[in-house]
Amino acid sequence: MNRGAARQIASVWPQLLRWWGGAAAQHAPTVHGAWLATCDCVRIAAEGPRPVPRSYASLYKASLGLNQSLLAVLLRMNVADAPLTALGDGEQFMAWCDREGVLLGQVEVCAGSPAQIAGAWDALLSRDGEPPPSTGGTELARRQAADIALMAATYQGLRRGEDRCGCLGCRMLSDRPDSWMDAPPERHPQAVRGLYPAPKPWLERLLEGLESTDHDRREAAWRAADVG
Ligand SMILES: [Zn+2]
Repeated sequence: MNRGAARQIASVWPQLLRWWGGAAAQHAPTVHGAWLATCDCVRIAAEGPRPVPRSYASLYKASLGLNQSLLAVLLRMNVADAPLTALGDGEQFMAWCDREGVLLGQVEVCAGSPAQIAGAWDALLSRDGEPPPSTGGTELARRQAADIALMAATYQGLRRGEDRCGCLGCRMLSDRPDSWMDAPPERHPQAVRGLYPAPKPWLERLLEGLESTDHDRREAAWRAADVG
C-alpha cells in the first residue's frame, strides 16, 4: 500500500466521487461508456492546472486504476454494450478485481482501500455529479485501443520469431512490460475490438495494417490511425 497516495486521495474523496458520477453521465450507461468516462477523467487530470492541485493528482491516479480495470474487462469479455450494472455493484467489482489480481502488478500496486474501490465503482454506476471541468476524451480512448493493438501484434510477431528492433511496437513492449491495460491475457490484436460495441472502420484498417510482418509498416499503420 502506498500510504502517501492513500492519504492524498482520502482528503479529496467526496470530490472524486462527484466527478466520476458526472463523467459517467456524459456517456452511455454501458461498460464501453464507463471506459470512455474514465478516459475523460485521466485526460482531464493530466491536462489540468499547474501546479497540479491535490484533487487533480488524485483524480489521475484513481481514474487510471478504474480505467485499467475496465480495459481488462472489455478485452477479456464481450461486454462493450452491456449495461455497467450487469457487472454488479461496487462490492462485487472489488471482489472481481481481487480475484483477477488486477490490484497488484509487478511494478504497480493499487493504493485504494477495498471500500474506496467499491465506492468509485458505485459512483460510476450512480451517474450523479458534475464531470471534472473539460470535455472530450475519446482521443485517449482511441490511443489506448491503438497502443494495445500494436503491442499485441508485436508480441505475437516476436513469438513467431521476428527480430526485436527499435520500432515503436518493440519499444512499447520493452518499456511497459507489466501493465494490465497494455497486455490482454490473450494478447491478440483482435481483442481490441472488444472495447467497442460496434465495428470501427479506423480500427479495422489498423488491424489490417498490423497483419504485416514488417515492423515499420505496423508502426505506419498505427500512425495512420491518427493517434500519434
Ligand atoms: Zn520492431
